[in-house]
Amino acid sequence: MQISFLGTGAPLSATRATLGILIKAKNAETLLIDSCGGFELYRRLDSIGEKLADIKHVILSHRHGDHMAGIMAMALDSLSPNFYGLEDTMQAAKQLFELTYPNVSSVLDVAPQYKLINYSETVNIAGYKVSFYKANHRVATVAIRIEHDGKIFAFSADSVVSNEIIDCANNADLFVCDALCATNDVSKERLAGLMHPSALEAAKMAKRAKVKSLAMIHIARFANITNMLTEARTAYDGPISIPNDGSHYII
Ligand SMILES: [Zn+2]
Ligand SMILES: [Zn+2]
Repeated sequence: MQISFLGTGAPLSATRATLGILIKAKNAETLLIDSCGGFELYRRLDSIGEKLADIKHVILSHRHGDHMAGIMAMALDSLSPNFYGLEDTMQAAKQLFELTYPNVSSVLDVAPQYKLINYSETVNIAGYKVSFYKANHRVATVAIRIEHDGKIFAFSADSVVSNEIIDCANNADLFVCDALCATNDVSKERLAGLMHPSALEAAKMAKRAKVKSLAMIHIARFANITNMLTEARTAYDGPISIPNDGSHYII
């Protein structure tokens, strides 16, 4: 499996695009997980030599704009991919299209397909075995586990620490976690209200889940990368990284 990070930043990052992860593998179609925060999706794909038109399957982890608003680019390019998400997320996706481009359905050759998924469900999407776990966030959110050719990729989506995320990541070859910053990058009170794990918490989950490697994304503008890597190292012995926009990983 090849995992390409289109965006690795929190919404107000000045240097990183918002969340989008492209998955490619032999004997499977291209799969997009989250769609970046807007039309930057098109530019982020172009920057790594990928085309929006080749993407027919998009899993949306939740309705927040930094994960979902890139689907507008698909509407303007007259693309009608299959969107997969919880009912709350799919309602928001439809509303986003209708709100911003009211007659978009009439210009599309085929109406977008909104496919409902549920917590604790395993389905085949684009040739991958995909399992969904309940994340703990401000809105209904799924963590996503993808298995293919004996390899396991896990994405926490946006979630505070939970047993569900650890189950999702169990024995993963790569666990991608929404670690926002290091513990000391902000005050304790502020960190508690951010609804994302610290790097230390991400590393503790990685250890409990016995993952083979940890990558931290959703990096805040106030995060100190060195602090994040240093504190994560105290809790987890395996490979730890903070991908950049455009980074490719192979598992
Ligand atoms: Zn969110
Ligand atoms: Zn987010």
